[in-house]
Amino acid sequence: MKIIVSTDNRHKLQEIREMLGFVAEIVSKTEAGFGDVYVVEDGDSLEANAIKKVEPLEGEVVIGDDTGLFVDALDGAPGVYSSRYSGADGDDAKNRAKLLRAMEDAQCRDAHFTTVIAVKKKDGTIYTVEGTVYGTIAERERGEDGFGYDALFIPEGSDRTFAEMQADEKNACSHRRRALDALKKSLLEIGEKI
Ligand code: IMP
Repeated sequence: MKIIVSTDNRHKLQEIREMLGFVAEIVSKTEAGFGDVYVVEDGDSLEANAIKKVEPLEGEVVIGDDTGLFVDALDGAPGVYSSRYSGADGDDAKNRAKLLRAMEDAQCRDAHFTTVIAVKKKDGTIYTVEGTVYGTIAERERGEDGFGYDALFIPEGSDRTFAEMQADEKNACSHRRRALDALKKSLLEIGEKI
């Protein structure tokens, strides 16, 4: 089976290949010939953005994911705005810096990551699955690996941030892993060969 992932983010593709690569061929948006398709992630939910990512692509199975970091002390921010938290021309480092500033006086550092994956089948129908990991926001950035908010997120049951973990450790418990597990289960349920 060939799964087209509606992204060219090499970190995401690597994680997805590590988790699903042994059961399916994982192809990026550009590798599948959709490199010129640009999706504006302006939906008001993770689900809406994930669906926007798969709508313009066609293939055996197309998946697109959208992830948000939801911080309790910030009433769920940055949430669906996680990638644009420090502005349209922001980046991962600016997003993390803004989050640390926003958390300076926070008593509670509880947070969770949620990933929603939209799945578009050959017949054009789309459904979504999701995965969540709970944890806390670190007091400062820790770790060199990973991307996005990894250097600030400590998953429940660990004392290290995602960025301090080996890839396989993060992949064993991450929001994306849980969403991909749900994806695998759903593909089996609808009789796809995976
Ligand atoms: P998107 O789903 O790629 O649009 O990501 C939304 C935001 O969450 C971006 O700022 C990403 O850098 C961040 N993000 C997505 N996945 C992860 C992850 O696994 N760890 C840390 N940050 C992530």
